[in-house]
Amino acid sequence: MSSSTKIKIPAKLDLIKIRQDFPILDSSINGKKLIYLDNAATTHKPLCTINRMRDFMLNENGTVRRGLYSLSINSTKAFDEARERVAKFINAKSYSEIVFTRGSTESINLVAYSFSSAFIEAGDSILISGLEHHANIVPWQLQAEKIGAKILVIPVLENGELDQEAFSKLIKTPGLKILALTHISNSIGTINPIKEMIKSAHAEGVKVLIDGAQSAGHFKVDMQDLDADFFVFSGHKIFGPTGVGILYGKYDLLEIMPPYQGGGEMIEKVTFEKTTFTTPPHRFEAGTPAIAEVIGLASSINYLENIGLDLISDYENELLNYATARIKNFKNINIIGDAKNKASLISFTSDLAEAFDIGTLINEYGVAIRVGHHCAQPVMQRFGVSSTARASFAFYNTKEDIDSFFIALEKVLAIF
Ligand SMILES: *Cc1c(COP(=O)(O)O)cnc(C)c1O
Repeated sequence: MSSSTKIKIPAKLDLIKIRQDFPILDSSINGKKLIYLDNAATTHKPLCTINRMRDFMLNENGTVRRGLYSLSINSTKAFDEARERVAKFINAKSYSEIVFTRGSTESINLVAYSFSSAFIEAGDSILISGLEHHANIVPWQLQAEKIGAKILVIPVLENGELDQEAFSKLIKTPGLKILALTHISNSIGTINPIKEMIKSAHAEGVKVLIDGAQSAGHFKVDMQDLDADFFVFSGHKIFGPTGVGILYGKYDLLEIMPPYQGGGEMIEKVTFEKTTFTTPPHRFEAGTPAIAEVIGLASSINYLENIGLDLISDYENELLNYATARIKNFKNINIIGDAKNKASLISFTSDLAEAFDIGTLINEYGVAIRVGHHCAQPVMQRFGVSSTARASFAFYNTKEDIDSFFIALEKVLAIF
């Protein structure tokens, strides 16, 4: 047999090894093994990240870009390398397109403020979608109100996908300046066809911000391929620390946007008469950054890339298919969101019990799921519910976790 006809053994995740990298997954809750299924809210961190941060704080701690002594010089080097690491991770053209923030929320607030200050006038429009997290609604509303701009919304279809026909009309709205769109709905899992939507927006001269809080870390995102003008995500949702977020912005846009906050390290020259600002990314990083967290984030990115994002996304998709097939056997469960292209999470309601009661009772079995409106009240309103229960999976979850979840769910529903 020639080598080209041989069947390749499919690469697989080494789950035993992976779970050893996340010792918290081995812990007990209420005397039961922890089943952690709230990965869309926050993810656990591998030992390499925890050790890297501990090591940094124990042995290397120094401020960045301020000192001429070795601790500061070395910290600055590690910090700069982390920025380089992030730039490579999302295939940005340059290091200078990566701004560190506190999280996706702050990244969006930054763009809403600075982009609006530079480009949006009274009577202009901002287009968002009906699938957005509050973090991609409220910052735009704050600016729109101040400026006298309008917020337009792409409607959501019954299956949880965006109404593309409505979008193709809305994107042609005169005076539309920016489309602020989630890559993946955190509440119902829809993966939006962002590449096509970015292309349509650009054809109309509209800039695009993508909220990538649910996509980065679960599959490969490539800035040069997607061509988004801005892309945001959070460290703690990609198996990294809390307190650090990323804003990617095309350099030519960042360069003409005014700062969001004022303070140290973002200036060129300060006098009481006038202050001039330094270039991006530092223009947008006033004050001392989250140094240990940024350095820890680079470890998490290394960890994910060592496993391989393609393997991660294939496996998470397998978990979704497995869980979806099983949950469909429950008679009294309604799945909210049935998009063709869906992230590894299931949002559901039950005819028997309120989501709140399911969430509280299932915790007795060690199962951590999220219940509520998931910071996306307009999505709840769209589907006529006040809350859902949501199980969201990550690559360290197993089919056994999903089995345990359903056994617990069955026991909980039997109470009602
Ligand atoms: C979590 C989340 C946010 C907010 O992220 P923070 O880390 O809380 O700032 C924004 N958008 C989506 C889609 C999210 O899932």
